[in-house]
Amino acid sequence: MIVKLLACTQNADAICAAAGKSCYSERSSADLLGKSDPEKTLGKIVGMGHLSVVEHASFTFSVEGVSRSLTHQLVRHRIASFSQQSQRYVSLKEPTYVIPETVAADPECKALYEKTMDDIWKAYNKLCETVPPEDARYVLPNGCTTNITITMNARELLHFFSLRCCNRAQWEIREMADQMLALCKEVSPTIFKNAGAPCMRGPCPEGKLTCGHPRKSDKV
Ligand SMILES: Cc1cc2nc3c(=O)[nH]c(=O)nc-3n(C[C@H](O)[C@H](O)[C@H](O)COP(=O)(O)OP(=O)(O)OC[C@H]3O[C@@H](n4cnc5c(N)ncnc54)[C@H](O)[C@@H]3O)c2cc1C
Repeated sequence: MIVKLLACTQNADAICAAAGKSCYSERSSADLLGKSDPEKTLGKIVGMGHLSVVEHASFTFSVEGVSRSLTHQLVRHRIASFSQQSQRYVSLKEPTYVIPETVAADPECKALYEKTMDDIWKAYNKLCETVPPEDARYVLPNGCTTNITITMNARELLHFFSLRCCNRAQWEIREMADQMLALCKEVSPTIFKNAGAPCMRGPCPEGKLTCGHPRKSDKV
């Protein structure tokens, strides 16, 4: 998969810090911008649960070569905007699909998987000779690759990273979320300082379903 940060609020840490500070000041955020240490200000305000201040920062990503399984999980996040490659208007003549590592690691499973994909695409292309791609696509698999553009504000991203950087999330969406978080940290180190799976910040909330492997030690 390829994950790129296309655009984001410039100077997001400082803008959110000024917005937060303006709630407790006679001065405007314009007056306060750049006059406080974002880490100190945001750390305190966000720590109190005053998370609306980080909604002023927005991030847009381009994601290529992920499966439709992943995007089905992704678009359950409602406080976000998505633009996904259409299977109605784009016909996928050549087989294009994600192979999970577990499948790739087992020669018999891999051969079965690849043969099934070849058969599916033969059927798809045959159907496309008679019916529109929007109807032929009904035979396409969950593993079919797609491209998607995602925009989220920082508050939703913090929530998204809590759920999807967790080891309980599926590997593919977790890999994408980890890459998105690394890109966010480069441009907004303060807002995303403690972002990631809940075990980065405290005890695991997953109870009996815990993976038992805190991600604190990970490099993300
Ligand atoms: C490990 C894992 C396993 C999952 N398994 C399943 C599954 O088996 N089946 C399944 O259907 N889904 C499953 N999901 C999806 C999950 O139930 C959520 O739909 C998805 O994670 C989006 O999260 P969300 O609703 O918290 O957040 P978002 O849609 O991103 O919303 C952010 C927050 O806004 C608030 N919010 C948004 N909309 C509303 C609303 N209408 N009313 C009140 N508050 C709102 C909530 O506080 C919410 O947490 C799974 C998710 C994970 C991470």
